[in-house]
Amino acid sequence: MKSEATDAEIANVVKEIRKYGLKADVSRGEFRTVIGLVGDESKIPFSNFAVLPGVKEAVMVERPYKLISKEYSRRFDGAAECRVVKVGNVGIGGDEPVFIAGPCAVESKQQLFKIAEGIKKAGAHILRGGVFKPRSSVHSFQGLGAIGWKEAEEALSWLREAGDKFELSVITEVRGETQVDLVAKYTDMLQIGTRNMYDQDLITTMARKNKPILFKRHFGAGIEEFLSFSEYIAAEGNKDIVLCERGVLPLGKGKDYTRYTLDLAAIPVIQKETYLPIVADPSHATGRRDLVFNMSCAAIAAGANGLMIEVHYNPAESLVDSQQIITPDELKEVIGTCRRIHRLIATKKN
Ligand code: PEP
Ligand code: MN
Repeated sequence: MKSEATDAEIANVVKEIRKYGLKADVSRGEFRTVIGLVGDESKIPFSNFAVLPGVKEAVMVERPYKLISKEYSRRFDGAAECRVVKVGNVGIGGDEPVFIAGPCAVESKQQLFKIAEGIKKAGAHILRGGVFKPRSSVHSFQGLGAIGWKEAEEALSWLREAGDKFELSVITEVRGETQVDLVAKYTDMLQIGTRNMYDQDLITTMARKNKPILFKRHFGAGIEEFLSFSEYIAAEGNKDIVLCERGVLPLGKGKDYTRYTLDLAAIPVIQKETYLPIVADPSHATGRRDLVFNMSCAAIAAGANGLMIEVHYNPAESLVDSQQIITPDELKEVIGTCRRIHRLIATKKN
């Protein structure tokens, strides 16, 4: 829209868009408003929009993920900086990397509080812990959420309590649509796991809670697919999206050595394509605790806005993913070194 466009002119464009069965994404920047189309654009007589009152230009953005693209944000902000996504009191995408840490699964109140205390001392900002665990085998521990609704709610309330006690924001994964409301009640951020990256209905339901979402890349998804599916969150008017690179399927016998392959180049590529922050998960990407330090450093050197790392005071005791979990002391080393690397590359980044 022209910088002098009136509210009535903006409302009129929105009305025109809706007439064709599409939704309008209205972004009000400091200097002007940009209206994006959401839906089947083939129904739209595109050139008609260019001549509506108040419209400056009608531009076709070809990308399947335009609402989260830098090309789009550049139009309303003048700049194309990274969006800072607020998670409780923590901002992801700002000047400092953010560290998300905690157990793979919440197992007990005592376990969670002890880990929360440890990660806080190590310098982490956000506490993670699975209540509804996606597992490859039905015969393994599925998280306390699998026992029943009461147990799920109790585990979620521990997360909230531990977060409040140690001044950490909290995040946990939502595995299915029925869990969305319950999880949103207790956490600052909702996580979509790798196995659900393609679940449009779950993504849309979660986006509508208007909470920030950590969106993990499917282990078989290309970059365009990953970004196209995160666009489903933006299409609901929720741009508080943090992307997570967590490794893709390894080639050949690669699986004998690492669980997945951390796609480091995807980090700066995605930062050039979108204004969304991106974090890396070296724990699930490698499946090996002896690689977590190096791959954390590498991800921060690649420009990641933060990391998600699995931590336990006694990794061997963990019911899930014990082989990839590090201790709070090791996390402290990771965070200290990553901060130094970040400072070194900050001025050079992108
Ligand atoms: C997790 O973060 O708990 C998890 C299961 O990761 P992913 O979905 O990346 O496998
Ligand atoms: Mn895990």
